[in-house]
Amino acid sequence: MRRKLAAGNWKMNGTAAQLAELTAMTEVANTEQTDVLICTPATLVNRAADTASGSAVAIGGQDCHANASGAHTGDISAAMLADAGASHVITGHSERRVDHAETDAVIAAKSEAAYANDLIAVICIGESLQERESGQTLDVVGTQLQGSTPDAATGANTVIAYEPVWAIGTGKVPTLDQIAEVHDFIRAKLVERFGAEGEAIRVLYGGSVKPSNASEIFAVSNVDGALVGGASLKASDFNAIISALDEA
Ligand code: PEP
Repeated sequence: MRRKLAAGNWKMNGTAAQLAELTAMTEVANTEQTDVLICTPATLVNRAADTASGSAVAIGGQDCHANASGAHTGDISAAMLADAGASHVITGHSERRVDHAETDAVIAAKSEAAYANDLIAVICIGESLQERESGQTLDVVGTQLQGSTPDAATGANTVIAYEPVWAIGTGKVPTLDQIAEVHDFIRAKLVERFGAEGEAIRVLYGGSVKPSNASEIFAVSNVDGALVGGASLKASDFNAIISALDEA
């Protein structure tokens, strides 16, 4: 039985004032059946970890470097995130794949760095609009899943987030059948490669999840929760998504 996960990605949003929203999330989240994660900007990880301390909300980073240390100006290592109080890190978000030309091999290396520092890697995969419209969705998702997920992946150290690029921040959401098709495909590929661990790895849907569509998405087979961008910035929205997942 996989535990459900409601994960928020604050992206490049939030200064100290935003921590009030996190406080309001800690008041609703409980650990009965749903895990809750907020991935803050790196500047807030330490303070967010303090704010969420003792609550059911875990704190994550949004990226880490593959190396442990060295001459990489502006980058952050997995060890630094762990030291600041993070328990998770997003790897391979499509905005990093595009903005920073991250390849599947780089993302796998970052995910391995996460494992080496006891961080759970939330590995993102998903097709572009052009890829969907030309019928390549499962090929693209399968290739990214294979190339971005290390051989050492387990249910304990890895979460996969299926995020169609065209659904991120656009208000567009795939049909429930389209979500089911991709999630069932990802589950089959994970089981083929990792056996029982492939059953244990959670698969989140991400892309324009809101309080108004969360319940129907959470009812889709092999959807173990969501990675939420915009709607994770306001506690009123994200708490409603947590509740929808609790009830799913
Ligand atoms: C994301 O950035 O991972 C995301 C899913 O964003 P949004 O929910 O805003 O579409």
